[in-house]
Amino acid sequence: MTKTDDKVMIQVKDLKKSFGDNEVLKGIDGTVKSGQVICVIGPSGSGKSTFLRCLNLLENPTSGEVLFDGKDMTKLTHSEIAGLGARMGMVFQNFNLFPNMTVLENLKLSPKKVKHLSDEDATKISLDLLDRVGLKNKADVYPSSLSGGQAQRVAMARALAMNPEVMLFDEPTSALDPEMVGEVLSVMQELANEGMTMVVVTHEMGFAKKVADQVWFMADGYIQEKSDPETMFENPQTERAQDFINKII
Ligand code: ADP
Ligand code: MG
Repeated sequence: MTKTDDKVMIQVKDLKKSFGDNEVLKGIDGTVKSGQVICVIGPSGSGKSTFLRCLNLLENPTSGEVLFDGKDMTKLTHSEIAGLGARMGMVFQNFNLFPNMTVLENLKLSPKKVKHLSDEDATKISLDLLDRVGLKNKADVYPSSLSGGQAQRVAMARALAMNPEVMLFDEPTSALDPEMVGEVLSVMQELANEGMTMVVVTHEMGFAKKVADQVWFMADGYIQEKSDPETMFENPQTERAQDFINKII
């Protein structure tokens, strides 16, 4: 559980997203406050990734509003959207590191390009972050030589190098061998303990139980239930969530 203040960081209002005539998100509402950790769970194909991608405009919502720090992101200009990339970090299932760059180069790229940091400053920040995820000794290797768990920790450090206000995680451990899941979750837990605002799509129910302030259950294009972790996992309030929890536990 993290400390939260009352500042609303993200507010989603009647968010809808269709691909052709496939309406994936049918009207999502939700509020993420500063310092909160929201875990999003739900069946495969229910729109969890689409929802996360709409939060930072990797997908354009079909309708509705996504307010970030009070501003409706769906109405921003291109350059404002680019600036926003700096304020929300995202970690993907498959790491998405640049294979032709060393670990350190991966980390330095955006701080230099987007934030115009000097090479010296970008290097310092990057090495500090690599240290924090326990991988300072990997600065000069290429991603192909990393294990999945190491690659995902590098991906987290790379996102953090932009000093984001919110971190979005899309199933960050589901492509990992089981023995590597823990090292990634523990970095995420530390980040949560430090007060980072996080939205985490995950199948790791243990993590959600321990770290989430709220669990959102998504199915059929809606968030069917928002509950504290104990209620969601021990005593879900909706039949849809009960069915899902019974199947996965
Ligand atoms: P989840 O992450 O919960 O598994 P997704 O958000 O990935 O679900 O997908 C929800 C639905 O949206 C699926 O039917 C998927 O095929 C569809 N979808 C996702 N992204 C696209 C896209 N870029 N183009 C077309 N359909 C998509
Ligand atoms: Mg997904």
